[in-house]
Amino acid sequence: MKCSEFLHELTNYLDGVLDEKTKVELENHLSWCHNCYVVCDTTKKTIEIYRDSQLYELPEDLRGRLRSAIMAKCQQQKKRGPQSV
Ligand SMILES: [Zn+2]
Repeated sequence: MKCSEFLHELTNYLDGVLDEKTKVELENHLSWCHNCYVVCDTTKKTIEIYRDSQLYELPEDLRGRLRSAIMAKCQQQKKRGPQSV
């Protein structure tokens, strides 16, 4: 699974609406990709804050901003080469 695929499924994962197979693939990606781990963690916390204030859904613009910030990070990482195994 690529970072772009991970990010595409991330909100579904956090909403708990993924099928088991995709969920396992996401968790597998999380176990080696630090960038996506951070995004997942940050998004989860953001959702919790929204949930506390009775707003369950993340606003579209926030999703978009998170995604582009992470994609930029991933591009940088590619230039430097893989850092994790
Ligand atoms: Zn990733």
